[in-house]
Amino acid sequence: IHLTKVTGNLDDCACDVETINAFNNDLLYPKLQTLLESDYFRLYKVNLNKPCPFWTDHSHCGVRDCAVKPCSPYSAEANEQLDECEKAEHLGAVDVSLSEETREAVLDWSKHDDEAERFCVVDDEESPDAQYVDLLLNPERYTGYKGPEAWQIWNSIYEENCFKPYTVPRPLNPATFYSSTGNEGERTFYSWLEGQCVEKRAFYRLVSGLHASISVHLSARYLLGDNWFERKWGPNASEFQQRFDSELTKGEGPKRLRNLYFLYLIELRALAKALPFFQQASFQLYTGQLEQDQKHKEQLLDILQLARSFPLHFDETALFAGDREEAAKLKEDIRLSFLNISKIMDCVGCFKCRLWGKLQTQGLGTALKVLFSERQIEALPKSRTGWPTFQLSRQEIVALLNAFGRVSTSIKELQNFRSLLSEQQ
Ligand code: FAD
Repeated sequence: IHLTKVTGNLDDCACDVETINAFNNDLLYPKLQTLLESDYFRLYKVNLNKPCPFWTDHSHCGVRDCAVKPCSPYSAEANEQLDECEKAEHLGAVDVSLSEETREAVLDWSKHDDEAERFCVVDDEESPDAQYVDLLLNPERYTGYKGPEAWQIWNSIYEENCFKPYTVPRPLNPATFYSSTGNEGERTFYSWLEGQCVEKRAFYRLVSGLHASISVHLSARYLLGDNWFERKWGPNASEFQQRFDSELTKGEGPKRLRNLYFLYLIELRALAKALPFFQQASFQLYTGQLEQDQKHKEQLLDILQLARSFPLHFDETALFAGDREEAAKLKEDIRLSFLNISKIMDCVGCFKCRLWGKLQTQGLGTALKVLFSERQIEALPKSRTGWPTFQLSRQEIVALLNAFGRVSTSIKELQNFRSLLSEQQ
């Protein structure tokens, strides 16, 4: 795969893939993996039982690898995890042993969560259907979810790129368009994309980057062997090649991988921008184990400082800013499209895919919320006087870091695939 530069259509981004690879694989990835193993980040509260609001879904709950193990004492495996589950029940609760000021601060977060600013439908954490899921027990990997149902989801997601009501002739989603119209379709789609403002092009690239990341993961943790004694998961280089460098992709593979790098840079930037929020003294990664919590907060700040140290690779002032009125309209367009994408996730028939799809959409939505809120974050009071103007809920924080963890892992996996494929040559 010819992948020397991340340039692509978004002209304000000109980044060297090697620099990103070295930064991610050697510096950031190992630190992030350690943090994501902590109790705070491994437990994600999610409602996987919301009905699909758009069509009748035919759930893949019967497919073995689509199942999600909830963190509940009712299964044998979860029984061994009982301690974790019990801890999970207390996450987010306000501990009476905390000082008055800290307790108030924690309560303030939930009381003042800015619903209007949310880019994703947030699962009702109080709903009896919402469960804590241990992400380490439910790794994102190959599940066998494919075919028309999966395509319907991807198609619907790309349709959100259209920003209704349509001001230009409605473009068709590349997935369906190319197959019916060949190269002509591809040219039309990309010339439409070129005509869009930078944020709308960026939106398409983010979704495509997310799609690419999922494809990398399922190729990297593919079911290689399944017999009585063991099930073996590992990298499947030919699956990867088919998805990114074959006749089937009609030359689109490298573009999709560049979109993955673009997604990485956007989420990295959001983490860097969120630093002042996490630096607030009142912020803690609360699980009730104060010493551990403090250590994890330090690890998190270290990662965010690292994100800040990465040189800026695109002109942010051109993105998510511009004329005040126009920028507000764009923000609303993008927010609404994202809300719809998060609803579409309730139609994903495979629960494991639904879990990671929801988490990654919420994580990306949170990243955009951060990028659109730069001024509010910079204006956060250093001492607590008056209401803070920017909030992130625990669910958003867990989603943001884990979603970035997925993209960071994809970049790392790409290195592995590059060497596997070069060994084969
Ligand atoms: P698909 O990946 O289904 O793609 C459909 C069409 O979209 C392609 O033919 C192509 O034209 C276009 N396309 C493909 N990639 C891109 C891109 N990056 N950018 C733009 N266009 C693109 N499967 C698992 O095994 N494990 C999972 O964890 C998992 N999670 C999923 C989460 C979600 C939200 C969804 C919708 C699906 C998930 N799947 C998962 C299924 C997986 O994404 C594929 O749909 C499935 O493997 C079938 O792949 P495919 O080759 O038919 O093409």
